[in-house]
Amino acid sequence: MSLISEVKQRTDIVEVISDYVPLQKAGRNFKALCPFHSEKHSSFFVFPEQQTWHCFGACGTGGDVFSFIMKKEGIDFGQALRLLANRAGVPLSPPGMLSKAEDKKKERLFQINEAAAEYYHHLLLNAKAGEAARAYLIKRKIARETIDKFRLGFSHDSWEILKKFLMDRGYEERELIEAGLIIEKEGGGSYDRFRNRLMFPICDIQGRVTGFGARALDESLPKYVNSPQTTIFDKSSSLYGIDKAKSSVQQKNSLIIMEGYMDVLTAHQHGWQNTVASMGTSITEKQVALAKRLTKSIALALDADVAGEEATLRGVEVLAHSLDKKATSTIAWSDKLARSVSRGENPSPLLANYVRFQSILDAEIRVISLNQGKDPDEIISADPARWQSLVEQAPTVLDFALKTVMSKIDINNAQDKSSAITKLLPLIGEIQDPVGQEHYVRRLADKLKIEKHSIDAELQKLLVSKRRRRPPEVARLSRSARHLVSNPIEEYCLALLLQHPELRQAAQELSAEHFACTENCEIFVSCQQHHNISEVEGKFDANLLEHLHYLMDKPILEKNNQEQWQSLRRCILRLQERLAKRLEAEREIMFNLIREKEGVAAEVAKLDEQGLGSSEKLKEIYNKREESTRIKEVE
Ligand SMILES: [Zn+2]
Repeated sequence: MSLISEVKQRTDIVEVISDYVPLQKAGRNFKALCPFHSEKHSSFFVFPEQQTWHCFGACGTGGDVFSFIMKKEGIDFGQALRLLANRAGVPLSPPGMLSKAEDKKKERLFQINEAAAEYYHHLLLNAKAGEAARAYLIKRKIARETIDKFRLGFSHDSWEILKKFLMDRGYEERELIEAGLIIEKEGGGSYDRFRNRLMFPICDIQGRVTGFGARALDESLPKYVNSPQTTIFDKSSSLYGIDKAKSSVQQKNSLIIMEGYMDVLTAHQHGWQNTVASMGTSITEKQVALAKRLTKSIALALDADVAGEEATLRGVEVLAHSLDKKATSTIAWSDKLARSVSRGENPSPLLANYVRFQSILDAEIRVISLNQGKDPDEIISADPARWQSLVEQAPTVLDFALKTVMSKIDINNAQDKSSAITKLLPLIGEIQDPVGQEHYVRRLADKLKIEKHSIDAELQKLLVSKRRRRPPEVARLSRSARHLVSNPIEEYCLALLLQHPELRQAAQELSAEHFACTENCEIFVSCQQHHNISEVEGKFDANLLEHLHYLMDKPILEKNNQEQWQSLRRCILRLQERLAKRLEAEREIMFNLIREKEGVAAEVAKLDEQGLGSSEKLKEIYNKREESTRIKEVE
C-alpha cells in the first residue's frame, strides 16, 4: 500500500482540523470560524462523510485533509504527507529512495539478472549437465514452449561458474553480491548461490527479472531456495508469473493465485494464463496490492491439506485487508474481536473475519477448494475438465467457511449441532445484507435440521451484544473511511491522460476542482503545465512520484484509441456530475447560512424565486453581510 493511501486511511479529517480550530457540530457536519480569513460567523465547514472541508466565506476554498494542511502550514504536498504520516504513526521510507543514483544501481541489477537468466536458460537447453533438469521437466510434462515462455534455466553444480561468466561480462563481484547471485564468504571471497538447481526467473509486472526461485534436482534441502531480499527483489511483494498473466487477467477479469512455480507453469500450459504463484504458504498484503492493480476478482487455490485450509483463510484475511481499504477499520475491530475470542467469547475468529470481509468488500473472493491431497498442477494435468469445474464452481469465501465448519461435525449429535451454531452464527452475523443473512440462516437451519426461528432468536441476541461491544470510535471511523482512500474515476481519468497524451485535448474542460483528492489534483495540474511527463518527475516528492508511476502503470482496459476516447469522455462526465452535485450541496449550505442572518431572508427568497440564487451571487450577499457586521462591531 502506498504511503498516501496508508496516511489517508489512518487519518480522520475532523480530528486533524480540530487540532487547529475548535469545531462545532452542525447536523452531520462540523463548522468553525474559518482559520484562513477573519470572520464573525462560522462559514468554515468540515464534512466527515466526504472527508472534505470548505469555506463558504471570503476564501471560498476547500479540499481534503492534505490541502487543508498545505494551506494551513504553508507547505507542499510532500511535506503535508510527512506531517500527517508522523501524526498517524505511519513509518516513512528513507528520503531519496528514488534518487537518480539509486535508479542507475537498480538498472544495473536488472541487467545482471537478465544476463544470469539468459545464461541459466542456455544451460538448461544445451548443457550436458542439464540432463537431470530436462528429465525432471519432461516428467512433470512441461512443454518446450512453456520452458521458453518462462525462460526456465539450470544452474551448474559449481561454486564459481556463474560468477566467472558475469565477471567476464564486466560486472563486479560487489554488484553480483548485491544482486543476490553470489554469496560472500566470511574470510573473503565468494561463491555462486544457486548450484545444481532448476531455475525460475521471477519477474516484476513489467517483465524485468528481479530475482530467482530455484528447485533442488537431488535430495538437497531446502527443496526450494529464492534470491535474498535485494534492492529490486522482495519476495513478499512479488507474484511469480504476474508479467505473463497480466493481459489474460485483464481479459478474464479474474486472477487465480496458487502456491508454487510448477502449478503456474502447468496452469499456463493448459490455458489458464490468468494464474500466478504466491511462492509460499500465505499471501502477503503487498502481493495483493500488486494483484489488485489488475483485478478485484481473485480466486485462491492454495494447498490441499487442512493446514492449507488454514493458510487459505489467513490468505483471505490478508487479501481482504489489502483489496479494499474500506475493510481496514473493520480489521482493527476484528483484532479486538480476536482478543475477545481468546477469552472464550467466540470460537472461530478467523472465519468471522473472513465472512465479514467478503461481506464488506467490494470484491469477489472465491476459494478453489482442493481436496484429496492433490496440488493444482496435478489436477490440471490429469484432468483439465475437473479443474475447469473447480474454478467455475469455486465457492465464495462464505460458502467455503460454511463447508469447512459443517464438514467437521456429526449432525446427529446434539452437542455438535450447538457447536456448529456457536461457530457459524457469528459469521452469519457479519453479513451486511439482510437478504444474504436470511439466506444463510435458512441454510444453516436446513443443514442442522432445526427450526429456523430458533437460529433467528440466537442471531438477534448476538447482533445486539455485538452492537454493544463495538467501540464507538471504530463505528465512526468505518463510516468516514468509506470515502477517503482512493478515487477510481479520478485515477482512471488520469491514467488515460498520462498514458495516452493524444487524449489530452479531449480533457480541456476539466479543471483542478474536478479532482477531490489532492494527490490527483497535483498530478493533473502538473500534467497540464508540462506536456512531457519527465519534466514533472524531477519536481515531485517521492511519494507523489510513486502515485504518478502507479497511474502510469495502471492497466487501460480499452485497447483502441476510439474506445479510450469514449472511456475518457465517460470519466469526464462523471467528474462533472460529481462537481455539479457538490456545488449544489454547497449552495444549499450557503442558503442556510444566509437565512441564519437577520434581515436577509426576504432578499434571498426573492433571489431564489427569480432563480438567481447562484453560488457566486449568494457568496457575494453573504460576504457583504459578513463585512457589514464586522464594521458595525468595530464602530
Ligand atoms: Zn475562509
